Amino acid sequence: MLFTKTFIPTLREVPADALIVSHRLMFRAGMLRKLANGLFAYLPLGLRSFRKVEAIVREEMDATGALEIKPTVVVPGELWKESGRWETMGDAMLRVKNRLGGEFVLSPTAEEAVTSLVRDALASYRQLPLTLYQINTKYRDEIRPRYGVMRGREFVMKDAYSYHTDEASLDNTYQAMGAAYRRIFKRCGLSVIPVRADSGAMGGSDSEEFMVESVIGDNTLILCRNCAYAANVEKASCKPELVSGGTAAVPALEPIATPAVKTIEQLCGFFKTDARRFIKTLIYRARNVALDLAQVPGGAGFVKRKSSPEAPEVYPEAFFAVAIRGDLEVNEVKLAAALKASEVSLAEDTEVVRLTGAPVGFAGPVGLKNLPLVADLTVPAIQDGISGALAADTHYVHVVYGRDFVPWLNVDLRTVVSGDRCGLCGGELYEKKGNELGHIFKLGHKYTRSMQVNYLDENGQTHIPLMGTYGIGIDRTLASVIEEHHDDEGIIWPMTVAPYQVIIIPITYAGEVKALADSLAANLEQSRIDVLLDDRHERPGVKFKDADLMGIPYRVVVGEKNLARDTPVVEVKRRGEASVRLLEVSKAEAELIRLVYRELG
Ligand SMILES: [Zn+2]
Repeated sequence: MLFTKTFIPTLREVPADALIVSHRLMFRAGMLRKLANGLFAYLPLGLRSFRKVEAIVREEMDATGALEIKPTVVVPGELWKESGRWETMGDAMLRVKNRLGGEFVLSPTAEEAVTSLVRDALASYRQLPLTLYQINTKYRDEIRPRYGVMRGREFVMKDAYSYHTDEASLDNTYQAMGAAYRRIFKRCGLSVIPVRADSGAMGGSDSEEFMVESVIGDNTLILCRNCAYAANVEKASCKPELVSGGTAAVPALEPIATPAVKTIEQLCGFFKTDARRFIKTLIYRARNVALDLAQVPGGAGFVKRKSSPEAPEVYPEAFFAVAIRGDLEVNEVKLAAALKASEVSLAEDTEVVRLTGAPVGFAGPVGLKNLPLVADLTVPAIQDGISGALAADTHYVHVVYGRDFVPWLNVDLRTVVSGDRCGLCGGELYEKKGNELGHIFKLGHKYTRSMQVNYLDENGQTHIPLMGTYGIGIDRTLASVIEEHHDDEGIIWPMTVAPYQVIIIPITYAGEVKALADSLAANLEQSRIDVLLDDRHERPGVKFKDADLMGIPYRVVVGEKNLARDTPVVEVKRRGEASVRLLEVSKAEAELIRLVYRELG
């Protein structure tokens, strides 16, 4: 390809709103332009790399036996109402009406669309397992799209959906997808951190996220310095506290007047002790609680309801007291999971006063009447605790778990932080920021049940298939390659996803130099190498700068002086390396083919 025949508008200056390297370099290298906030157009150079990432993903998906389909981007709203996500997806989902007033969704993901296709065609267990995938446009109406295609509103995702008769089959596909994802990221030159993740709004059980380290990452990862433990902070756990015996000697519970002492800091000062002795008690509101609270102490006051005739009975709203060691924070994702709630949030002050009978700041685990008590695993380890006494200006001292109060649930609720100990090996845990590139989930029956998907087994019995879902962001993967492979001059593409693999720069595109540059380009292209020939009438310095910016792996400089030698040579340089090699013209083509294919693996 001749430079003058393509469209690569490189820039010297940095766009003001480009806050991260990949955004800056994709703009400057002429790969990308912005149409509106969060909406980007790939120009020819950018699209070449984009297509290569896509091709790697497609190859690896096909290798697992997954079958590619192409559903529409605009999907009927009814499907989302069937799954229940019409309500829960919120404003991130763009809804549109057609001229007849029909409601549609610009797909943010496609569990519903693909499941409805499977529902229509599935009859027998013989059709399972079945994995369908698409590489297609998605839209999420992000409030603050930032960082270029790393977090745009419109993007392309590979999303796959699998359907199974049993757990073992689901697990097979889940493992195969995990292995395919590892190969995809490796082939793209990316170092990913696979982490166990919470499935959040997606619902379901097992899941794994594939993260890249990033200072602008929207995920916090918890990693162990000593072993391979890695988890999203939303799901991270750590070594539980030791509960030793010996509370027998603790004196009886005793109320102490603590006028105007409310916060943990004030309490530490008042009692001259550290926060680890306090049993912090917070009041949470939970929505859509799918538990039975009738027999739970403090739970009888809440009312169950059905949102629709088919839906199971849940508590649209219930409140809980949550006790945790004074120096720790409650992880709301863990709390919601423990309560089988769609969401949890701190209750308003008026609710706290109504439910505890005490001013805000004096809640405690002893004597609660209207609230089920949930305690973190750190609470039993507090041997001689201090807590609010459910009365104004009063705290209890000598509070003992099991003697003075017994929670209804005792589960892991803490937010793990740097310095906590690894639950696997006892090593020190630390935090990193990460961006999610891919995600695999076992969904179980979540969508297949709500959308009434059935198949018949060998005895003619009806069953609901199990389901898994597997996504990779193509744009984000591409941007992450640039984040990981660049220097001050520009991008340094891995060969596998480079827009062009070789750039030929004639010092002056004329005469013998032109003839050699043209024939070298043509011959390399014959060997299926992607070549850009910089035929512009620009100074060599300008061409070199652009070549570095675009990050094309091999640069070949053809100059008159080198061709006039007894043994004519060309200069070859690998982007990212300092040394320049001289290759004899007669051997240059074969050597370049060897170099490129070696890196393609
Ligand atoms: Zn460890």
